[in-house]
Amino acid sequence: MNKIEHIGIAVKELSISIPIFEKILNTPCYKKETVAGEKVNTAFFQVGGSKIELLESSEEDGVIAKFIEKKGEGFHHIAFDVSNITSEVERMKKEGFIFLNETPKDGADNKLVCFLHPKSTNGMLIELCQEKEK
Ligand code: ZN
Repeated sequence: MNKIEHIGIAVKELSISIPIFEKILNTPCYKKETVAGEKVNTAFFQVGGSKIELLESSEEDGVIAKFIEKKGEGFHHIAFDVSNITSEVERMKKEGFIFLNETPKDGADNKLVCFLHPKSTNGMLIELCQEKEK
């Protein structure tokens, strides 16, 4: 694990939360991106070497909408940057962790991502991500 790549925060409305985070962090949102496969609209802020990722559901039945229904807005997941996502998945599987997706898939902000199943992490949603080659 190289560093905390980003922290994901579930929000109802990006249009409300983006200006709040721009003021908190004193930096503009540098990227907005929809990940259609995940039914999510994302917005990114740079904080030193890490990022904040705001997540808004792009559809009523999206995972973020369901998360907010259950738990409200706020902390959603933590993402760790790794150099080789395939070997990290293999290492963690040997440790007994279960993945929501073992095969890396396209995430926001030019990443390959795998999510650990919260049932194997004491309820925490954890994402591994590797920068895609440009
Ligand atoms: Zn994320």
